[in-house]
Amino acid sequence: MIGIFGGTFDPVHFGHLRPALDVKQALGLDEMRMIPAFQPPHRAQPVANPGQRLTMLRAAVGGEPDLQVDNREMLREGESFMVDTLASLRNESGDEPLCLILGADAFLKLDEWHHWQEIPELAHIVVTHRPGWQLDMNVASPELQALWRERQVTDGARLAASQAGRIILQAVTPLEISATQVRALVAAGKSPRYLLPDAVWNLIRMHGLYGFSAINDAKNNPVKTKMGNNRVLRVNTGTNIQDKQNEGR
Ligand code: ATP
Repeated sequence: MIGIFGGTFDPVHFGHLRPALDVKQALGLDEMRMIPAFQPPHRAQPVANPGQRLTMLRAAVGGEPDLQVDNREMLREGESFMVDTLASLRNESGDEPLCLILGADAFLKLDEWHHWQEIPELAHIVVTHRPGWQLDMNVASPELQALWRERQVTDGARLAASQAGRIILQAVTPLEISATQVRALVAAGKSPRYLLPDAVWNLIRMHGLYGFSAINDAKNNPVKTKMGNNRVLRVNTGTNIQDKQNEGR
């Protein structure tokens, strides 16, 4: 079974990474694909550009065998409709069950997504929530309530029996972290450390993302980062991440 964890990842933080790993382990998935949206259709446009968000995600999961970065939405460009992503994964994976991971907030708005009724035909849906919490389906639309009634299962083992079509609630480690919070801290000149991997925080500082001010920070905390061929680079906010990566090859 393949898990799909989509997001804007602007930037990726531990509230994405730990629940992704929790779901993979709890449901015994073979893979967990972290899929950054090129252009998220259902929300405000990201602050960091697609290459920067992809680079931060790769830095966050680098070396973690249980999480993989899948860049198909970046390669496809245009609006990143999940139904298109699931269709391309279905084409590649044959009969393999696909499991789309959604936070409860995202699931309750599923019926606003492009061609949303095709999504349960392409994948199971795993709705993540904090332990002990109940999903309030009364706030969902009648169509989503009907989907829930028809498709919900409580036994994770039932997912392996079909390619798609089930919905399951899955408790994950509660981490009240949002990318909005991380961006606000950085813009305010405060540290977001311990909310996200240090590798991501270092990239934010190196490239001056989210209004990070190198001038203020350099006085107290100069960044030294090893990249590519082990050269130690000083803070440099004037280059883009892609250039820096190529330089290291
Ligand atoms: P923003 O604050 O910019 O809206 P975000 O932190 O919510 O961003 P997204 O990239 O929009 O992050 O989220 C991608 C997916 O991760 C969604 O399914 C969302 O429900 C889930 N998610 C985000 N933050 C958490 C968290 N702290 N715990 C569990 N799931 C989360």
